[in-house]
Amino acid sequence: MAQGNVRQDAIAAICHGKPIEGVVDYQTRDLTDVFGEHVFNDDAQRERLPVNVYKKLQETIQAGKELDPTIADSVALAMRDWALEHGASHFTHWFQPMTGSTAEKHDSFVTPTASGGVMPKFSGSDLVRGEPDASSFPSGGLRATFEARGYTAWDPSSPAFILDNPNGATLVIPTMFLSWTGEALGKKTPLLRSMDVLSTQAMRVLKVFGNKTAKRVLTTVGAEQEYFLVDSNFYMNRPDLVATGRTLFGAKPPKGQELDDNYFGAINERALSYMAEVEYELLRLGVPIKTRHNEVAPGQYELAPTFETSNLATDHQMMTMDILSTVAAKHGFACLMHEKPFAGINGSGKHNNWSISTDDGENLLNPGDTPHANAQFLLFCAATVRAVHKYAGLLRVSVCGAGNDHRLGANEAPPAIISVFLGGQLSDVFRQLEAGAAESSQTADSIEVGVSMLPKLPRDAGDRNRTSPFAFTGNKFEFRAPGSSQNVSGVNTVLNAAIAESLDFAATRLEADIAAGKDLNLAVQELLTEMVTEFKPVLFDGDNYAAEWHAEAEKRGLPNYRSTVDCVPLITSPESVELFGKYNVFSARELHSRQEILLETYATKISIEAETTSMMAHTMIMPAALKYQTKIATAVNGAKTAGVEDPALQGLLEEAAATAGAFRQAAVDLDTAKNADIDSDDALAYAQYQHSTIIPAMLKLRELGDKVERLVDSEDWTLPTYAEMLFLR
Ligand code: ADP
Ligand code: MG
Repeated sequence: MAQGNVRQDAIAAICHGKPIEGVVDYQTRDLTDVFGEHVFNDDAQRERLPVNVYKKLQETIQAGKELDPTIADSVALAMRDWALEHGASHFTHWFQPMTGSTAEKHDSFVTPTASGGVMPKFSGSDLVRGEPDASSFPSGGLRATFEARGYTAWDPSSPAFILDNPNGATLVIPTMFLSWTGEALGKKTPLLRSMDVLSTQAMRVLKVFGNKTAKRVLTTVGAEQEYFLVDSNFYMNRPDLVATGRTLFGAKPPKGQELDDNYFGAINERALSYMAEVEYELLRLGVPIKTRHNEVAPGQYELAPTFETSNLATDHQMMTMDILSTVAAKHGFACLMHEKPFAGINGSGKHNNWSISTDDGENLLNPGDTPHANAQFLLFCAATVRAVHKYAGLLRVSVCGAGNDHRLGANEAPPAIISVFLGGQLSDVFRQLEAGAAESSQTADSIEVGVSMLPKLPRDAGDRNRTSPFAFTGNKFEFRAPGSSQNVSGVNTVLNAAIAESLDFAATRLEADIAAGKDLNLAVQELLTEMVTEFKPVLFDGDNYAAEWHAEAEKRGLPNYRSTVDCVPLITSPESVELFGKYNVFSARELHSRQEILLETYATKISIEAETTSMMAHTMIMPAALKYQTKIATAVNGAKTAGVEDPALQGLLEEAAATAGAFRQAAVDLDTAKNADIDSDDALAYAQYQHSTIIPAMLKLRELGDKVERLVDSEDWTLPTYAEMLFLR
């Protein structure tokens, strides 16, 4: 081992880092065999279930029918045998509590028999319901301690899978997490409810347009995941990364992302080897992973799957984050999915691509080939934009959080102001529709729905606006505000509910118009004109970074919630209670619980950051500053003894002492703020205190800490630097 400090040892270790070889080999294993081999998917079900059971299960999965309880035992038996063949010894109900991550408690198949032996047992009731001890999960007041039990309920629409481990395997069953009184304790239930209501309302619209084939409308999601890779040798020496996922100190590196030479650049060999294994594991789990590339910042990457229905896409997204983390450790990396691991360097988001399609495969946001199809497309498109305009605040809440505050509302894309980018041609179409409202003279250049053909809209064309938070990209919308660490169920639940409300509005109007004998085209035309006039302020095709836009947005009356504490109270606003209550997506109590949890989580995260900042200040940075100061003092004394007057050295000593002094004072100030006696029972007030007092105190300390880093002897600096973490791997 090299004889340096821990930081220098880490660098020495990385010099010998090599990509891991031989895990993935598609020459010996066919790609198509690998895909889904760890999933109890349609093939496995068809092969192993009695025909009538298979049919009934499919009815539940495909048509959303309630599960016939009599088939549970039969499905469980087939699932157990399949799992045993894959080496599983345990099963688990896998769920998404409001912590934002996933949870699992494993149970062994092993069950004692009367004769003193054991047998593998897994019954229908084991499959359908589980009872994890819910008392330690956040419930935001939904679950009083006397009713601490929550339960998990099987979600047949997301197939069971095998979780592989070097020492065995586990059968994983995706489930919903509910309280004993049926309230949603987890994130899956509201998402499923929102998908249902959107389907109901969209079907009404389709019926008006004469669609006779669709039975259900599905929401689809493709979530792009951005992340950073940092070598484990560095990561382990950064207590801030380990405890909070982001660096709380770190001077700006001499070279950052200024040269724009990383985006889509050649992928580092170790990183690529890691990605290949991540993809392999995901493919085995049936996650249709599709793209990989270098992102804007050094050390930043992205992967994206092919889209799926929202529920499955969400589960797969959670699995993707798990796999990204576990495989990273094997490759000697830490995978950072925090929204802003490095100050001054590009943050990470999770672009949520969203569309709606019929169960027979028609993408309703795809501009059609006939005037009729185009009218229908325009209506679905307008309904989406109307929802984004009307519920911009709730969409903002759906992406809030301590981490994402560093992106939204900071000087980074996208801004906290929610606006919609439609692109030149589609904007023009809507402009003409709006003109349709005006009297005769203007109608000449207005569109007549049902007569005009839309121009072919460019898909993924060059004019894509990368700064817009909500952009139409040819046949889907891309919501770019979600943070890289967030569970996408939240944003999609809000999107679905808000758009369902718009579709409800549109369907109600059109149904009445048709019943009154109005021509469909005319009714649609008038409705579109009215909708465009209303949502027009939310349309913005320009640069979302620009200061002028912020002023303009204010003039247009668009909300700009800069931070989590600003927007969280909207969750229990009358508008929110009304929307989610009307469609049974969240009850008022469920909304209240989410608000409490968001605030508590926010405050706790900031408080952990403050503790870590303080600890690093006292035990790592201050000692380095003092060591350096002592070195200069010794040199000053040495020079004096030798009879040399050295004003430069004297100046350096004074600078070092002044910096260390200011740093020490800022650390004391942070400690005072953090130890102040603030009532933490009022969740909002406590979160606001963290926001307005603790964060500024941390920032002040960081600024001085970064000054120390730039000043001291590299020998005495033990924290891996930005330049090292971002560039060495
Ligand atoms: P970008 O240029 O934004 O980085 P990517 O190709 O990385 O684009 O990702 C685009 C994502 O959009 C993919 O996950 C893709 O599957 C998804 N997508 C495409 N069509 C739809 C759709 N109809 N509904 C939902 N997502 C979609
Ligand atoms: Mg994107």
